[in-house]
Amino acid sequence: PRTFATSAISSTPTSAFSAKKGSNGNYTVTMIPGDGIGPEIAESVKSIFKAAKAPIDWEEVDVTPVLVNGKTAIPQDAIDSIKKNTVALKGPLATPIGKGHVSLNLTLRRTFSLFANVRPCVSIKGYKTAYDNVNTVLIRENTEGEYSGIEHEIVDGVVQSIKLITYEASERVARYAFHYAQENGRGEVTAVHKAPIMKMSDGMFLTACRAVAKEYPKVKYTEDLLDRVCLRIATDPSPFAERVMVMPNLYGDILSDLSAGLIGGLGLTPSGNIGKDASIFEAVHGSAPDIAGKGLANPTALLLSSLMMLRHMNLHSHADTIEKAALSTIAEGKHITRDLGGKAGTKEYTDAILARI
Ligand code: NAD
Repeated sequence: PRTFATSAISSTPTSAFSAKKGSNGNYTVTMIPGDGIGPEIAESVKSIFKAAKAPIDWEEVDVTPVLVNGKTAIPQDAIDSIKKNTVALKGPLATPIGKGHVSLNLTLRRTFSLFANVRPCVSIKGYKTAYDNVNTVLIRENTEGEYSGIEHEIVDGVVQSIKLITYEASERVARYAFHYAQENGRGEVTAVHKAPIMKMSDGMFLTACRAVAKEYPKVKYTEDLLDRVCLRIATDPSPFAERVMVMPNLYGDILSDLSAGLIGGLGLTPSGNIGKDASIFEAVHGSAPDIAGKGLANPTALLLSSLMMLRHMNLHSHADTIEKAALSTIAEGKHITRDLGGKAGTKEYTDAILARI
């Protein structure tokens, strides 16, 4: 079998949180409220953190794109803030379709080498969907694949998009997946792929996963085809509860929305973008322009992302308190938002959580 050069960078599986507390005993975290419903759901999270006395000072930054040498860039203040604080909570950022500036989400992921996107999807007790046993963790390679942005028109009517896969990025995300499995008591890592078709790119992704698997003999390693996983997870999600799935970028983007659908929709699914020097937590959903400014948005996905952030910062008890209040509010069902079948707006739902803290 072919072997590939490994790099020193990839031997660091995770960016362990190491920022210092300020003189008031609080940590400073960068807050990017974002576009569309972003400011409304960010406000909800801030009020819940305040009530729960989470030791966080928010440093709010604007990421309205600027032009640097003719290219779209994130304002320097925002970059400096994330660099300094090493942790950020981010609302959704809208991306123009087909033309206009490049995705700021992708720019942030590249700027900070946020190599692993962690997307847990867990059924919420008391909130009825077709399944009550979903407990998946999907880890998506976050920097390359079809999202490398390399596209060109070869001749009129023929466009080529490059799927870029490197051994280094594959190995790095695989190592993070095994590390995550070990830390979180999940006994199996499944690499999800289409290697029979994408023989070279996905083939190399699997080679990297197999090599890393040897470093973690206590964690079982398996491989499964993306299409088969989609069918199996929609048929019965329970076999996926004990494992972590790791996969190239685009597959993770799509499969995580499928998983979100199993637990009640995008309003409930959080994520963390993990890098070596900084980590950015955000909801899986976008800016929801159809309901923006109407006070209807469900802040749960951003709130659950903020809890992933607190746990990343080792602030487990604050995360547990807020989680209990939010999940019991949903389970009671009286004050849930419209996307979950309720009648409440963002404020009424937030107030119901506040009343339980
Ligand atoms: P979307 O996730 O914004 O919305 C899809 C549907 O889900 C809409 O009907 C919306 O109302 C609903 N929805 C989403 N979040 C909700 C919430 N919290 N509460 C209640 N309903 C919610 O997807 P889209 O419409 O395809 O994208 C809109 C914009 O968001 C686009 O510009 C896209 O590029 C951007 N986007 C950003 C991110 C990000 O910042 N990470 C992710 C995805 C999409």
